[in-house]
Formats: sequence, structure tokens, C-alpha cells
Amino acid sequence: MVIFNEGRQILQQNWRLNDEASVFMAELHAIKMAISNIRDLSIKKAKIVTDSRSVLQALNNPSNTNPSVLGLKELLRYAPSIEFIWTTAHIGVAGNESADIHAKLGTERPIIDSYYSRPLSLLKSLLLTENLGTWQQLWSTSLKSRDVFQLCPMINLRRIHANFFINQVITGHGAIAKHQARFFGANPDCSCGTAIEDRDHIILHCPQWAEIRKIFPPQLR
Ligand SMILES: [Zn+2]
Repeated sequence: MVIFNEGRQILQQNWRLNDEASVFMAELHAIKMAISNIRDLSIKKAKIVTDSRSVLQALNNPSNTNPSVLGLKELLRYAPSIEFIWTTAHIGVAGNESADIHAKLGTERPIIDSYYSRPLSLLKSLLLTENLGTWQQLWSTSLKSRDVFQLCPMINLRRIHANFFINQVITGHGAIAKHQARFFGANPDCSCGTAIEDRDHIILHCPQWAEIRKIFPPQLR
């Protein structure tokens, strides 16, 4: 952050944030510190120039609930004379170039000045990745439902169905004759009369489903 007065740079500061902090948080931090300096220097009227469109959008968005954005809005309530101006980055605007230099210097500081938590979106994606890994490992090493495993060895969030009929075919449970025979002593034969009715028969061989099989060729892995 740099402060200019009548075309002259009168103050420059830089900080290092923890590595997990996003660029967005760094931009918010710099603006927060600028406001704090404006207050400390008793500057009556100030313009804050930033190349961060995302911060300006966040400040203008009444439904943004990011705690840091709300904190900055609260600060601005007591600084009504501050006007925000957006500038394009890297086109030679003196103050912007100088602030960029200080942003780089900040990253080289030996100590961390401020800690910010990881953005919620990053935490969510890390948790999802970890959970998917655990799920895949459980599925790959389980001793149960190995016939379904033959069909779907890889877990897949997009394949989750709660379809009564599809799930019976995939698992071979429910109304499938072989299952009925095993549990209730029913006739295991398929109504086509050519074989026992199990999952592979329905998907791959049963002549009753030949027409549908032409439209949706089975892709067993
Ligand atoms: Zn059949």
C-alpha cells in the first residue's frame, strides 16, 4: 500500500500474509490498512485506487457475507469521505506500479504479519478430495458387493442414483429371479426361458432386452 499526496508518495508499507491467504484477502488487507492510515494521518478526503475488481464488487454486493468484507464495510461506515477508484493493472499508473513493487516486497518478508484463514471454497474442495479418496479406498478394498465392483470399480459422484429399478439391476437384488431364489426359494429362471435371471443375463444376454441393448450398448468394464 502506498499513499500519495499531491502527486508525491508520502508513505509506503508492505505486509506478508500466510501462504494460505488468497490474493483477494491480500487486496482486502491492503485496503483495510489504507483506511487505517487515512484515519491515523487525519486525512480529511481520500481516494483509494485499486486494481482489484473483485474487492470492489464484494464491497458493492449487499449479500456478501465474507467476514473480512463485512469488517471492511464496517470500517468504511466511519470513513464516508473515502472514494474508491478502479484502475487497470500494469499500464504504468505510478501509484499502482509502486503498490505492485511493495506487494512483491511483502512476499519476501521473513516474518508473517497477518494470518488469514483459508477461503471456505478451498476448504470445501480439500475435504471433498479427501473424502473421495477415502471412499475409493473403502470401495476398492471392501469384500462386499464385488459383483457391483466389477461393473463400477471407480467411485463417481455423478453416477449416484436412487432409481428403484436401475439399482436392482446393478446390485442383482430385489426382484431379480436369482436373488428371489436365494432368499425365498423361488424359481431362478428368467422369463425368457434361456437362462437364470441375474444381472449379467439382463444386461448382456437376455433376448427380451435385445432392442434396448441396440440403443444403449452395455459398457461393462
Ligand atoms: Zn432372459
